[in-house]
Amino acid sequence: MTAHHDAVVVGAGIVGAACAEALSRSGMSVLVLDASFAGSGTTAAGMGHLVVMDDSPAQLALTAYSGRLWAALAPELPRNVEHEACGTLWVAEDDEQLEAVRAKQSVYADSGVATEILSPAQLAEAEPHLRPGLAGALLVRGDAVIYPPNGARALLQRAITNGASVREGVRVNAIGAREVIAGNERISCDCVINAAGALAPELTPGIPIVPRKGHLVITDRYPGFCRHQLVELGYLTSAHTMTTESVAFNVQPRATGQMLIGSSRELVGWDGSINRSIVRRMLDRALDFMPGLALASAIRTWTGFRPTTPDKLPLIGSWDEMPGLWIAAGHEGLGITTSVGTGQLLADLITGRAPAIDPAPFAPSRVLAGVGEH
Ligand SMILES: Cc1cc2nc3c(=O)[nH]c(=O)nc-3n(C[C@H](O)[C@H](O)[C@H](O)COP(=O)(O)OP(=O)(O)OC[C@H]3O[C@@H](n4cnc5c(N)ncnc54)[C@H](O)[C@@H]3O)c2cc1C
Repeated sequence: MTAHHDAVVVGAGIVGAACAEALSRSGMSVLVLDASFAGSGTTAAGMGHLVVMDDSPAQLALTAYSGRLWAALAPELPRNVEHEACGTLWVAEDDEQLEAVRAKQSVYADSGVATEILSPAQLAEAEPHLRPGLAGALLVRGDAVIYPPNGARALLQRAITNGASVREGVRVNAIGAREVIAGNERISCDCVINAAGALAPELTPGIPIVPRKGHLVITDRYPGFCRHQLVELGYLTSAHTMTTESVAFNVQPRATGQMLIGSSRELVGWDGSINRSIVRRMLDRALDFMPGLALASAIRTWTGFRPTTPDKLPLIGSWDEMPGLWIAAGHEGLGITTSVGTGQLLADLITGRAPAIDPAPFAPSRVLAGVGEH
């Protein structure tokens, strides 16, 4: 039996790292275990867009809260996190979508998120490589981008500074009541946090998280070609609808001058192979919005698995089937953004402080009750 800890976090992806940071900041002794290495799971495959999203009021509350936490953290992040306050442009193709942009602006305003509507001329000036004839866009200046694996490592480093320990290359075989079992070791603790991402159900059977595959393509360096994170207005439909396949235009400028091109969603289990037909559809969509991308050379394509729940909201809170067990998993395509909000919310719940946002929509008990499935 090794030393007792207040909390053992299973998983050093960006979500587990943020939980470790918030728990250790609350004065708890924390041990983080990862089967591989920090930031190596879905976090390594993510795009790194820190974005406010309004698919549901709960999603808006968590993303806006997390956006504020990231903004406060930004000046203290190491340079290799590549935090860039580039903002998001939600691009409208026609007048109908422009109406949706206006509705989005009012929903964001109600949550205190500042936005501006750009006319076609202002949009063309902001992003000269977008095709002419677009109807306008919603500019969310507060959104940003980071390089996710280094974001996870920076949060872990903060946890270590607060006294946390991190052990990489340690696979947890089972989670018991106030203990984890890793190989021959039994590690006792007051609480275990299952932050194993899309693999969380392996350790906590009954969690309805499934892998939802996504592809990303990265280009060579073209500094200034694209200046904001560009997303088509239809992106939310693609993310929300649980169809077997969907693509949406989503391009991100990296600090290196490269561009990340997304995005796709597929339900194909754990098959991580490149699906050429969906990559072609994804690139066609990108070329439709930014024809000049045809001259860019793509240097790498990869896939990753979003941990997806039936109602597209993460599970953050206690798992009442097992004493001392807490879940922080199921963040789908928003886990880079919502990691810091998740860590803070979980630490508040564990230490009995009043959280800044309502935790009820994220309570894992909702999935035991089958609430919110659609
Ligand atoms: C293509 C794509 C684009 C994306 N773009 C964005 C974006 O722009 N913005 C955004 O906010 N989100 C984005 N996401 C989503 C985001 O990447 C995920 O929501 C997030 O990375 C999930 O983090 P996690 O820490 O929960 O999981 P992971 O990063 O998968 O971490 C889980 C960790 O648990 C460890 N683990 C698993 N089982 C065990 C075990 N038994 N014992 C010990 N350790 C274990 C793994 O090794 C891993 O390191 C994207 C995802 C994809 C696939």
